[in-house]
Amino acid sequence: MASDLSITPEHRVTSSIRNRAPSTFYDLTLDELTGKISELGQKPYRARQIYHWAYQHLVGSYGEMSVLPKSLRADLSESLPLTYLEPVRELEADGGDTLKLLFRTHDGNHLETVLMFYPDRVTVCVSCQIGCAVGCSFCATGMSGLTRNLSAGEMVAQVVAAARRAREFERQLTNIVMMGMGEPFQNYEATMKMARILNDPEGMKFGARRITVSTSGLVPFIDRLAKDPLQVKLAISLHAPNDELRDTLVPLNRRWPVEDLILACRRYVETTGRRISFEYCLIKDVNDSDDVARDLGSLLSGLICHVNVIPLNPTSAEPSYERPSEERIQRFARIVEESGIPTSVRYSRGVDIAAACGQLRAEHEEGRVA
Ligand code: SF4
Repeated sequence: MASDLSITPEHRVTSSIRNRAPSTFYDLTLDELTGKISELGQKPYRARQIYHWAYQHLVGSYGEMSVLPKSLRADLSESLPLTYLEPVRELEADGGDTLKLLFRTHDGNHLETVLMFYPDRVTVCVSCQIGCAVGCSFCATGMSGLTRNLSAGEMVAQVVAAARRAREFERQLTNIVMMGMGEPFQNYEATMKMARILNDPEGMKFGARRITVSTSGLVPFIDRLAKDPLQVKLAISLHAPNDELRDTLVPLNRRWPVEDLILACRRYVETTGRRISFEYCLIKDVNDSDDVARDLGSLLSGLICHVNVIPLNPTSAEPSYERPSEERIQRFARIVEESGIPTSVRYSRGVDIAAACGQLRAEHEEGRVA
């Protein structure tokens, strides 16, 4: 997409917020649900019962909440749908270890959720926007621009759908990463509300430390997150250690350059004592040289952090970008590691099912996926 940096990212989001999703059950905190239940003339304990059934038993309708009076089930079905998200399609890759779920929203948009099974954990990658305004040059989602923010309920619904699907394989969801379509810090309130709803001890009881929020570098929100009582984890999509390179990969860098970003990260670690993950998409002959690896090591020196080197997924975003050779990938990671920064190489899941960010949605909307 063409990135118009004369408009601030926040401004672009504000103008897109008009197209709001209607409120659903999954949008409500337990307090809000209790208020709604009182309006229906019911006692507050009913709200806790509903939360249990929705988030612990993971039922898909009020009709299955057999502890509730029939009249209340009917009232709720009428006045407060669980969600408007409709499953459209599911694709499988990595021998069944990755499932990509495509949903349609109430207003005819599409969004993606990826469920990944590992031997020791089950992770869901959640989308927070339809499209994205940041426009990273390697990203399929960024190409289509931003359509609108998702509501907290639309994000919670993705997690619940993934948890249900995991349960069908007798597995339990253990981690949530906000690394699907969109920039979570351009939809901060809804993203954090989602985390609070899922963290509720009467509901899913999802530990905050098992929720990772990823940003391309909106500095003011890094400071804001550091003060948030909910201790979610922070990941930074860095992709380059200097402004010259990062300006070309993550246009938002022109607004918040590398130095400001890393200073905010240092403040975050100082305030919270929590480790930051840096995501680094490795692109052949763009950001994969030995010198760049050494610069990355020096930039992050002294920070409590971890670097995930992610070899580029083939996407339609920028045809000239290629994945580096295996030898180069390993050498890059080794140089960063030798500079004292814990480093892993992480291969994106589901390359064969268009699991690169935003690709399935793009193919669906272009009619290439039935
Ligand atoms: S990589 Fe993330 S922040 Fe960048 S354009 Fe894609 S979705 Fe947006």
